[in-house]
Amino acid sequence: MLQDIEPRVFHNVFQNKQSGPKDLFLAYQGDTVLIREDKDKLWYPSFADFSVSHPHLLQEAQFLFTIDELNYYLVEEEGLDEAPGWIYVSSMRFHAEKKYWRSFAGAIGWQLNRWYGNHRFCSRCRKPLKRSKKERLLYCASCGMTVYPTISPCVIVAVHDRDRLLLTKYANREYRKYALIAGFAEIGESLEQTVRREVMEEVGLRVKNIRYYKSQPWPFTDTLLAGFYAELDGADTIRLDEDELAIGVWLPREEIPEPDNISLTGEMIEAFRRATVSL
Ligand SMILES: [Zn+2]
Repeated sequence: MLQDIEPRVFHNVFQNKQSGPKDLFLAYQGDTVLIREDKDKLWYPSFADFSVSHPHLLQEAQFLFTIDELNYYLVEEEGLDEAPGWIYVSSMRFHAEKKYWRSFAGAIGWQLNRWYGNHRFCSRCRKPLKRSKKERLLYCASCGMTVYPTISPCVIVAVHDRDRLLLTKYANREYRKYALIAGFAEIGESLEQTVRREVMEEVGLRVKNIRYYKSQPWPFTDTLLAGFYAELDGADTIRLDEDELAIGVWLPREEIPEPDNISLTGEMIEAFRRATVSL
């Protein structure tokens, strides 16, 4: 999965650290990220690469995180592809890159870039927010309001019935492969209650024996995904929520196509397909 970057180690502890020439930086423009043009991988710039053309970047950079010994910073300047050899590429590359640690770094940086960009002013008293030097926190010096990065809990549910798995396809989304039932936890709800509600809302089925599998940070939508397997309880007739889903089908194990391996959804479909998860 995207976050499985072993043997590399992701350190998300915030540090109030001045950037140096060898440190890497992430720079975004809309849904694109800056990389070296002549590499076929997500090759992010170091400050040394821009020391002549953009020396001020070093001073204005925001510390993000560390992977192994390498520090990553955020640079909010746009138009850096004026420098020869650098281009912006689609963030869809984060889904395609084989080296997960590069995709993971770029995707987490993108999430933090959105967070900083979306919280420039206090939503209570409208004064500019300041960046804490001690933790990953924005605060209002005028009224004391604090803002931490928002992470929304979301469930992924693999509904199964003997050797059949319930697979869905989204309506009106770019993602065209099979998916599982998914949805955000609502206020006042446990994750198990979210599982039951989402399965009922999206496909009109009841489930029992709800079993937690694994979790996954999903930086693209600011969510923390919790994966569950749940057994069909009662009738198997699917009533599709057509606003959300285009397709909902029961597929026998041997007919399930091979899923992607970046996502928790993919891993859960694969574990069922290969019968490596005990249910
Ligand atoms: Zn305020």
